[in-house]
Amino acid sequence: MTASDAIRHDWTLKEVRELLDMPFNDLVFRAQQAHRQWFDPNEVQVSTLLSIKTGACPEDCMYCPQSGHYNTGLEKEKLMQVEKVLEQAKAAKETGATRFCMGAAWRSPTKKDLPHVLEMIRGVKDMGLETCMTLGMLTEDQASELAEAGLDYYNHNLDTSERYYNQIITTRTYQDRLDTLENVRNAGMKVCCGGIMGMGEDEDDRAGLLLQLANLPDHPESVPINMLIKIPGTPLEDVEDLDPFEFVRTIAVARILMPKSHVRLSAGREDMNDQMQALCFMAGANSIFYGDQLLTTENPQAEQDRALFRRLGIVPEPLATDRSDEDQVDELTRRMEQERQSALFYDAANA
Ligand code: SF4
Repeated sequence: MTASDAIRHDWTLKEVRELLDMPFNDLVFRAQQAHRQWFDPNEVQVSTLLSIKTGACPEDCMYCPQSGHYNTGLEKEKLMQVEKVLEQAKAAKETGATRFCMGAAWRSPTKKDLPHVLEMIRGVKDMGLETCMTLGMLTEDQASELAEAGLDYYNHNLDTSERYYNQIITTRTYQDRLDTLENVRNAGMKVCCGGIMGMGEDEDDRAGLLLQLANLPDHPESVPINMLIKIPGTPLEDVEDLDPFEFVRTIAVARILMPKSHVRLSAGREDMNDQMQALCFMAGANSIFYGDQLLTTENPQAEQDRALFRRLGIVPEPLATDRSDEDQVDELTRRMEQERQSALFYDAANA
């Protein structure tokens, strides 16, 4: 391990810029080296995301179809019933997801809604799935209640650099977001935090976001790197496309700066072809959302993902639990056998 590949929290903007500017092949090679020190390079963690409350959000995030500030034609839905959420979690588990993420379009959870949310967490946990939620800003007390109910991860993205942030959101500050992240950490939950590329930011902003994440007291366990999905009706619908190689570079640098974190290839994946996704995996992405829907935008269907995994020799990462090694190996073997059988079916169907 080189000194520069050790876990650090004191990166400088200059260093991050230098990484982003490396020749592409050198950068991807270095990211692979970092990746292989901490992960099996052929495993990808699979999560499923369900929108438990959709639309009419009071925040004005300029990329978001759920914001009540924009008319995107999105159908609004109230908080989903607990039983419905549990049905979806069960289905997600059956398609191989190990983590179930639930998102609500709120500024922050209300007193009235929180008990329902806590019930959802307990129910999903009881199925043996890891739980993740994104509900907006959290106070210290709310974070503690969620943690006590068994919430494993809390997602709260920084979205972009501090200096570009107020071009994207005006209804809450960067510091508000950092405060929520701190409350989540202090409550003992794991942090899922990343951003969105292609919102008209420049390379310094991508570097600034990565720097902020990498210099947090603890690296987020999950770092979603999203590509903007341009939704008609939002202020960013006509923003210029980001060069896809800049996106891969961002993933590679996230991998180098936060080598132990899961770097998640997240929103925007449905617009990427298989080659682009494979490049992202090579650059160190090792987590995806799988199956049905990514909050309110389309996500490639589970079968398409399984086919890509088969072609690349990727297997889903087993659930990190306190189960014994033998149990985890059994689970992985069972999954691989399932994959092999669906591969046979796939080949036969395409012969
Ligand atoms: S990103 Fe979240 S907080 Fe922002 S408008 Fe959308 S749902 Fe609301």
